Amino acid sequence: MPRILVIEDNPANLKLATLLLHKAGHVVTSARTAEDGLSAVRAEEPDLILMDVQLPGMSGLDATRLLKQDPATRHVPVIAVTALAMKGDEERIRAAGCDGYLAKPLRYQQLWESISALLARRDQGNADESR
Ligand code: MN
Repeated sequence: MPRILVIEDNPANLKLATLLLHKAGHVVTSARTAEDGLSAVRAEEPDLILMDVQLPGMSGLDATRLLKQDPATRHVPVIAVTALAMKGDEERIRAAGCDGYLAKPLRYQQLWESISALLARRDQGNADESR
């Protein structure tokens, strides 16, 4: 079962994400800050990260930049989750290295589709490397 790390500071949003991910059959772990999330990525080696953009302290986008600069973690797909839906947000999110993004509130179908696509792409990449 894919293991998803949710980095989210808002308890209600974390609860919803966990519920939807469990429904999709994923194993869920969580962190409330970017700093704790970075530690969790290294400790847990999740299959995918759901990253809130607005976090106390370091932002989700800065945390993603760090993950994508590190050879040990850059292969882990990151889906940014944002309450903002303003012009320029998608560009900022992509520039930080996020592999996808979703707007709050999370919806099951979109979440499931985004995760499935990224995990399939990652699995395909692994298959290519082993050839
Ligand atoms: Mn937040």
